Amino acid sequence: MSFSLIARDIAESPTLALNEKARKLKEAGELVIHLGAGEPKNKAPIAALLSASAKLTEGDVKYTPTEGISMLRRAIMRYTEENYNRLPNSDNVLVSNGAKQALYNVLFSILNPQDQVVILSPYWCSYPEMVKMLQGLPVIVKPDDENFNQRVEDIDDYVTGDTKAIIVNSPNNPSGKVYSKEFIAELVQYCEERGIWFISDDIYHKLIFDGTQWPNPYDYTTKDLENTRVISINGISKLYGMTGFRIGWVIAPRKMIEILINIQSQITSTTSILLQSAAAGALTGVQSTVENLRLQMQNHRDVMMQELGTFDGVRVVQPKGTFYCLADFRAYGSSSVEISKFLLKKAKVVTVPGVDFGMEGYLRLSFCGPIKGIKEGVERIKWALDPNSPNEIYIGERKLVRDWL
Ligand code: PMP
Ligand code: GLU
Repeated sequence: MSFSLIARDIAESPTLALNEKARKLKEAGELVIHLGAGEPKNKAPIAALLSASAKLTEGDVKYTPTEGISMLRRAIMRYTEENYNRLPNSDNVLVSNGAKQALYNVLFSILNPQDQVVILSPYWCSYPEMVKMLQGLPVIVKPDDENFNQRVEDIDDYVTGDTKAIIVNSPNNPSGKVYSKEFIAELVQYCEERGIWFISDDIYHKLIFDGTQWPNPYDYTTKDLENTRVISINGISKLYGMTGFRIGWVIAPRKMIEILINIQSQITSTTSILLQSAAAGALTGVQSTVENLRLQMQNHRDVMMQELGTFDGVRVVQPKGTFYCLADFRAYGSSSVEISKFLLKKAKVVTVPGVDFGMEGYLRLSFCGPIKGIKEGVERIKWALDPNSPNEIYIGERKLVRDWL
């Protein structure tokens, strides 16, 4: 069979692949601990469920406008006004199948073959693959220091006449880093002056800890929504833990939204009205889920930091948002894929190799699962890697003895 060069070059999403692997191992009776997961365990808000089930009961399930139902677009407009201090018009909003499709549509609308997109490392694993799917060139900029800080003067070294966009994800998946307001302000200015799109992936912007202020990129441009180069991507997956509802959106100039609608109308048309109704319900309902999730994740973060703190060979920067941390495991090997495989085989713990996020030798550890799993997961990792830890461990009823260190 012959497949296109582009298709053959695209890697599988490692995060989704690991979810599947963990599920299969659990089904097979293995006591797996999933520190790879990118979704919290909470139930969807009741307002979301009621709103979707009302539509289902009415049997009113048809195509909707490609850009999304007006009830949801209005809710997104209000959300944007409240959280970004900008009130978009309805024609600045497009609803997509998750933030993932929203982002892909945006890249589709701006890239010609060989155009470049600057991606700040560590980065979410799908960014480079999406750029490659569109025949563009991902240009990775490594952080300036071990705290994952970036500097505009370093980014400037990677910008060429073919640079169409810079993708910024803050709070950052996989590191939990929140970029400083000085950095965001400078980078927004830089993009506005050069006509480069500043694509702000804000999917974790409310999952933020310790009173940290989220730098809102729109605060640093004087241009209005029709003329700014700032584009915001957001969605309900992380905000309400509604990952399976597949609703995300873009806020962009009207002219871009028109193109995005054309693209989406030829690929997926609209998203399901049931899911759009659920999203509208979540956005207009009681907002306690968001704060509850945030507090829970902050607490889980503290537990994860405490556990990793007892692990001499591992270095980790405290995340200020998201539900991930990116820990440096280079003391235990140079290949993150090998370390991750080893941990799954020996300790039945799922982790995501840092190489998929541009940071070889690191592992992404998620703390969105239960506290018991975080504690036991780190204990098992320590047992597998650290010669100073006791060499026996119980996984369920099974006693395992370490014989490789
Ligand atoms: N951006 C980042 C940084 C993510 O981690 C994810 C994964 N959920 C997405 C975008 C896509 O989110 P969605 O579920 O809305 O497609
Ligand atoms: N974004 C999540 C993660 O990074 C979910 C999986 C995905 O969409 O890639 O784990």
